[in-house]
Amino acid sequence: MEPGRPCAHCTVQGCAIYENRPEIPCRKFKCAWLADGDVIPENMRPDRCGAIVMFDRKWNGWSIVKAVAVGDLIPEETLEWLMAYARENKIPLLWQENLVVDGKKYGAIRNRGFGPPAFVEHVKHAIGPEDIMRL
Ligand code: SF4
Repeated sequence: MEPGRPCAHCTVQGCAIYENRPEIPCRKFKCAWLADGDVIPENMRPDRCGAIVMFDRKWNGWSIVKAVAVGDLIPEETLEWLMAYARENKIPLLWQENLVVDGKKYGAIRNRGFGPPAFVEHVKHAIGPEDIMRL
């Protein structure tokens, strides 16, 4: 339920309580792959691309595309697709990963921004001097 930290009901076969899964977030939430299949390609399915993508999100007054890492980090090729989408549609991209430096995990989420310089600066200043949001 956080980047790199799956739900306790998540198993290799899928959701262990699927028939009784809660309304929020499980029944209501739809990632971009589910909700906008005509826009997002099949290989951007979260378990294949390593990111849960959300279109039409609001963040500090910006309309953004948001992506959250499925594991610790979003794979490079997925980021490339997201950045190309952001560039093409002139919409800022905010993504969240676990903070990993030289293989060491810090138990923190790192927010990164891509888009107009003003947006990237906003991400840095909103998150703090080290670009880190503590859990
Ligand atoms: S559907 Fe909901 S309860 Fe089931 S694994 Fe996913 S997040 Fe967990």
